[in-house]
Amino acid sequence: MDPDSEAEQVASQILKTTLLTVVFSSCNYFKTETSASVSTIQLSLPKDSVVKSQSPSPKKKRKTIYLTFDDGPNKGTNNVYQIIDKEEVNATLFIIGQHVYGSKEQAAIFDSIVNSRYIEVANHSYTHAHNKFVKFYTVPDSVVSDFKRCADSLHLTSNIIRTPGRNIWRTNTINTTDINTSTAAADSLQQNNFTAVGWDLEWHFDNNLKLTETDDEVINEIDSLFAKAKTKTPDHLVLLAHDQAFANTADSAYLHQFIIKLKAKDEYDFENISKYPALKN
Ligand SMILES: [Zn+2]
Repeated sequence: MDPDSEAEQVASQILKTTLLTVVFSSCNYFKTETSASVSTIQLSLPKDSVVKSQSPSPKKKRKTIYLTFDDGPNKGTNNVYQIIDKEEVNATLFIIGQHVYGSKEQAAIFDSIVNSRYIEVANHSYTHAHNKFVKFYTVPDSVVSDFKRCADSLHLTSNIIRTPGRNIWRTNTINTTDINTSTAAADSLQQNNFTAVGWDLEWHFDNNLKLTETDDEVINEIDSLFAKAKTKTPDHLVLLAHDQAFANTADSAYLHQFIIKLKAKDEYDFENISKYPALKN
C-alpha cells in the first residue's frame, strides 16, 4: 500500500469515528433532554388540571330556595326582618291576620315588612284555626271565609296562602294534602282562587320556642334533598320556619349564620314564594 494513501486512509477513519461519536452523542443528548422534559411536565401538572384544560367541566346548576316564615307578626318577627334585610335575601312571611292587631309593636312590624324590599307578605289565615286544626278543616266554607277575612283586613294583593297546621299544596301542578280530612277544605280554597303552598323541609322548634336543629344540620338536609331530587319541584325547595323560634338571641344568630353560609355556597338563589313554578296569581 502506498504509505501516503495509507496515512490518508487512517486519517479518514479517525474523522469518520469522530463524526459518528459526535452524532451518536447528540442523539443521546436530545433523547435524554426530551424524555426529561416530558417527565417534568407530567410531574408538575396535577392530573385533574390536565383533564380540565381538555374539557372544562360545566358549572353546578343553580337551585332556588324559598325561605318562608309562618305565624307572624309576633315577638320573633323583628329579628327575622332585620336579618333578611341585612343579608338582602328574598323571603316570604305568612302572616296571621289577627296577630297584626295583637299589639302596637306587631302592627308596626307588619308595616315594616310590607315595605321591605326583600320580604313578600302572604296569607296564613285570620285566626290560625285557633290552633284547633281538626275541627277547623271539617267546615270548608268557614276555612275559605277565614282566609278571605285575612286578605281583606290586611289588603293583601296576593292569593298565595299557607294552611295552618297542614302541609297542603294546591298549585297548577301540585295537589297534595298531608291529612286526608282536610282535603275538602283544601279543594274549596282552590275553587275560591287561593293557591296553597306547603313546604319541603321544616326547621323545627320545641315547646320552649327553641330551635331543635342547628344551622349546619338544616343546611345538610337542604343539600341532601336537592341531591336526592326529593323536593316537590326539582331544583326548588320551600323551607318552613317560624318567627317565634327567633325571638331569642341565640336562635336568631343561628338564622343569621344559616343565611350567610347558604349564600357563601354560591349555588343557591333566594326567591319570594310568588316566583315558585306554576303558581297562578
Ligand atoms: Zn302556622
